[in-house]
Amino acid sequence: MAELEVIQPNNPNLRKKAEPVRQLTPEIQTLINDMIETMRAANGVGLAAPQVNRSLRLAVIETPPEVDEEGNEIEGTRNLYVVLNPEITWKSRKIVDGVEGCLSIPGYLGEVSRHEAIRVRGMDRNGRNFNLRLKDWDARIFQHEIDHLDGILYIDRLTDPDNFWTEEEFQALFGEEAEEQEAFAAD
Ligand code: ZN
Repeated sequence: MAELEVIQPNNPNLRKKAEPVRQLTPEIQTLINDMIETMRAANGVGLAAPQVNRSLRLAVIETPPEVDEEGNEIEGTRNLYVVLNPEITWKSRKIVDGVEGCLSIPGYLGEVSRHEAIRVRGMDRNGRNFNLRLKDWDARIFQHEIDHLDGILYIDRLTDPDNFWTEEEFQALFGEEAEEQEAFAAD
């Protein structure tokens, strides 16, 4: 496995609409493994293929685990998803605001409105179709990653241009309350 370089908005490839994955070749499986390694190394919760300069409709997502009262990870609550050719088939009418970051925009955070719940259809790395109903942070992460496949970044969707901060500014503004949020910040 190898860590991949994550591209930033100065690279126009981040803005391209990505192509569907048509075949699960060994090369695609290697790319998936490398993307998982890259996401974990960066403490991210998601990574889309365009972020590693591959124009493919593919993303890896690892949702944050639930923790017990002592803050220890509860086994079985950390979910890794490999999603190919995902499609959002339903969106809740309810919209919620939340703070996001992006591995392609390191050091910054912004507030974004997302559907509170969605349904997503797609294929996993074994070629099996899946249908997921997601809500809250999981739904947010999926919306963020699927946006990447269409060349859309969270900075395009800020609730207000002022609701965009460096991590230091965010920490100074929101302090303690921010600590919890930051665990979810990077995708
Ligand atoms: Zn991102």
